[in-house]
Amino acid sequence: MTFFRLTFLSTRSEALTCAVRLALCRSRLILLITRLADPLGRTFTTEGSNAVPANPSTYDVNPLEHPASAEVPSNPVALVVQKFGGTSVADADRMREVADHVKRTRSRGDDVVLVVSAIGNETDELLRLADEVNNEPPGREMDMLVTAGERKAIALMCMALHAVGVPADSFTGSQAGFETDNNHRNAKILSVDPRRVRDSVDKGRVAVVAGAQGMSTDNNVTFLGRGGSDTTAVALAHGLGADACELYTDVSGVFTTDPRVCPAAKRMESISFDELLEMTAVGCPKPAMRSVEVARAFGVPLHVRSAFTWEPGTWVLEEDPAMERAIIKGVVPDTSQAKITLSGVQDEPGLAAKVFRTLANALVNVDMIVQNVSESDRTDISFTVPLEDLDAATATCESLADSLGFGGVTADPDLGRVSVVGVGMASNPGVAATMFETLADNNVNIEMIATSPIRISCVVAEQDVDRATAALHTAYGLD
Ligand code: ASP
Ligand code: MG
Repeated sequence: MTFFRLTFLSTRSEALTCAVRLALCRSRLILLITRLADPLGRTFTTEGSNAVPANPSTYDVNPLEHPASAEVPSNPVALVVQKFGGTSVADADRMREVADHVKRTRSRGDDVVLVVSAIGNETDELLRLADEVNNEPPGREMDMLVTAGERKAIALMCMALHAVGVPADSFTGSQAGFETDNNHRNAKILSVDPRRVRDSVDKGRVAVVAGAQGMSTDNNVTFLGRGGSDTTAVALAHGLGADACELYTDVSGVFTTDPRVCPAAKRMESISFDELLEMTAVGCPKPAMRSVEVARAFGVPLHVRSAFTWEPGTWVLEEDPAMERAIIKGVVPDTSQAKITLSGVQDEPGLAAKVFRTLANALVNVDMIVQNVSESDRTDISFTVPLEDLDAATATCESLADSLGFGGVTADPDLGRVSVVGVGMASNPGVAATMFETLADNNVNIEMIATSPIRISCVVAEQDVDRATAALHTAYGLD
């Protein structure tokens, strides 16, 4: 530990050094900073009395080979939850590669629990089939169908592990102890009791758990929704007290912007839970936003990384004091938004309440809302919705127009949003000014603006999103 601590301290300021000394051995935050600071990714965690090595970022060095000290672990086994998405387990070759990776991880002394998604785009395929049979399928049957994808994947993954000599047991969501609410197609986890998973690990086996599923309080099979496997992995890591949760995917980490939009995008070494949560809320597609919420709530260290190159990716962790130096961490483009404007709405108490309650009852997810200052007794209200909800939202608003007496409903699907995110902006003036100047210099008109303490979003024309993204990436020094 000492060696790594010194490596770390030598790279940081005096003030931080003191803080680190005080907090060392107590805080996971500090441990993660240490983990990140070491160029070889070698660390020990020292939580509790049983210090364990946690070296999930790179498995190239066995921490146990390093010189003994008073802090050397007595129970040298880390537990890592590794989640593999659909493309990572798309066919037999890919499953064999994943099995080899699990074997390598174990040979370095770590226990592994796997979470897998359905193979390739099987979930899409099952949804399409269901739609062909019945375009309003019962939720219970829908979940029974969709969860079959992950169930196939866990059995095949276990077979691949057995083939390379790794003993493994598959578990459905229910067997792994996931209890959910009864909201089919999009169930929420209520509790996790991973006893059977733990037993399997204790017997020296790899537990392979089906992602995105559970059992409802009504004893029905439930699906956690698209991208739900990330949430399964994080919740399981928390339930097992794992040292880290690794989300293996087809990109190599979290980038400063979408590399398809802006080739200058760079992979981040680390990002805070808060920042990633904001980024996923405004269009960063991976990891699933719900999984970041769970990780943040329980402080589960996440590592987003590639299942194709196996290189270290991006750590998601508590806020690092050094993060304040980089004011903007990422620029997020999003073209999946649409805008609705209600014109001539009477300016009196209760109207907005009625409109947005009705939209909520129709399960429309409203995001940015702007109400104009009214010059007479009438005003305009504009808000954004996901493009896929536009038709439902427009119909809902039109159904209210007469009874609430507003003039008209205008729907605009050709909208985009560009957001900048970074914890440093909370205490640094000028971030918004730079954003607006950059958009102005590039002749991009801003239609709506929304802010949080660590994010600024501008709604712009869809055709301007890519240009705005690249310009902002340069303006904030991220190129
Ligand atoms: N297979 C499911 C989906 O595609 C769950 C997941 O992969 O997270 O949404
Ligand atoms: Mg759009």
